[in-house]
Amino acid sequence: MKPFLIIGNWKLNGNVLFVKNYINKIKNFLEKTKLNFCEISIAPAYTYLYLSNICLNNIQMNLTAQNVDINLYGSFTGEISIKMLKDIGIKYVIIGHSERRIFHKETNEYISKKFNIIKSNGLIPILCIGETELQKNMNQTKDICAEQIDIILKTQGIEAFDNTVIAYEPIWAIGSGKSANPIEVQNIHKFIRKYISQKNLKISKNLIIQYGGSINKNNMDIFIKQKDINGFLIGKASLTAENFISIVKKAEKIMSFL
Ligand code: PEP
Repeated sequence: MKPFLIIGNWKLNGNVLFVKNYINKIKNFLEKTKLNFCEISIAPAYTYLYLSNICLNNIQMNLTAQNVDINLYGSFTGEISIKMLKDIGIKYVIIGHSERRIFHKETNEYISKKFNIIKSNGLIPILCIGETELQKNMNQTKDICAEQIDIILKTQGIEAFDNTVIAYEPIWAIGSGKSANPIEVQNIHKFIRKYISQKNLKISKNLIIQYGGSINKNNMDIFIKQKDINGFLIGKASLTAENFISIVKKAEKIMSFL
């Protein structure tokens, strides 16, 4: 069984003290609890990744970066390369998040280049896809998800999705406090897996499909029980170690019964 992958996306939050306290609390928790069903990761801002890596000190949690540049080195002021992320022990890199698509005008083509640079350097992309509320109301969710996947299929082939994570994040559910209907989410995840399986069954079975959008400890239960939901990408509810730990504890318990 695939581990249930829970990632806390801290976005533009945190400071040195926050990082140290948060990781200490996770450490204390992991000293008492071995994770058998979940894999956990946090995505602090770039400035705190190195410190986080030192603080982690081989506990059962890894690190995710919130972004990466498409270039490896050179005159690209303000950017961070995949080699730099690899150098400090990062495992996952989030790309295609709607906040970057919207506020930084990142296109499917640009995101596809990020996907390629991550894969070719041996890290794991978390490709965020999902529709706006208008697109949902117009019944376009599956088309939008397919379009966001297609650009990578066309440029890099199905093999690019081997050992990869897709995070389905309906844009209207992110940060709104209004999570999507878990049965509808299962339906979209099933569609995504089938879409990939038409090209390669084995890759589709191994694909981790996370859900993201206002998940918290009170609404997570039904999501986690769905066959094609293999993890959560969590924003707001990951901003305290206590909440994050409550989610992980609950996920471990539910997963142990499935
Ligand atoms: C996100 O930003 O990826 C996210 C899921 O945020 P939130 O949990 O706050 O909706």
